[in-house]
Amino acid sequence: MFLSHRSWPELAEYAATESLAVVPLGSTEQHGPHLPEGTDYLIAEALARAATDRTGHLCTPPIPVGVSSHHRQFHGTMWVEPPVFRDYVESLSRNLTSHGIDRIVYVNAHGGNVSHLREVGRRLHEDGTAYAIEWMWDESIPDLIDAVFETTGPHGGPKETAMIMHIAEELVREDRLEAAHDGGAVFDSDAERVHGATTFYDSIENSPNGVFGDQTDATPEIGERLFEAAADQLVALLEWLDAQPFADLLPKPHLDPQPGSGA
Ligand SMILES: [Zn+2]
Repeated sequence: MFLSHRSWPELAEYAATESLAVVPLGSTEQHGPHLPEGTDYLIAEALARAATDRTGHLCTPPIPVGVSSHHRQFHGTMWVEPPVFRDYVESLSRNLTSHGIDRIVYVNAHGGNVSHLREVGRRLHEDGTAYAIEWMWDESIPDLIDAVFETTGPHGGPKETAMIMHIAEELVREDRLEAAHDGGAVFDSDAERVHGATTFYDSIENSPNGVFGDQTDATPEIGERLFEAAADQLVALLEWLDAQPFADLLPKPHLDPQPGSGA
């Protein structure tokens, strides 16, 4: 059920029996010479809508701009400061609870958002408002990604290229796949460390054109496999979360003895 396309009486019917919401989040940032800047939120929205079409759960409109200042040197990259992002997502999540939502899955497709979404989930959990968890699509199918690509990459690589080929093929500049590969890099976070310290902050320090891995390995067929496998994982997560009693999702009480407990 896509919130943007529904009227309020339909949402009232949903609220009468359900309390779960899915919030897709991504980024609008450079994804190399071959992919659109909206790659991450397009992936998040497509997966969130496919999974909620199957389970019947509520899907909100996507949040298309995230924490992306590490791509700031490349044209078109948009970002907000991390505290602004956290406060915005927290406010939006608390707003959902006013309509009866008590559990949320952040369907995320941008690595830069992960720690901030975890922080928002922690805030909501600690005060018992809601149970909100972050789900990153590629983290749900690591073995499949390793099996289908020789040289994957954390950003703008074959996995995101294949996914966009499947979701919106007209947005992939197929004639620039070679250029993406030749002008990019193979990311090895261990090799980038100096005496144990991570010394880089921006993607341009590791990749001249901003992307990693071998994009020429991507095909729409592989994209479809990745998409369906990740959607299966998300459906299973939503069904699991839906089945949990809310009391089981709340923080555990402090151990005894406590002052005044009489113990
Ligand atoms: Zn991306």
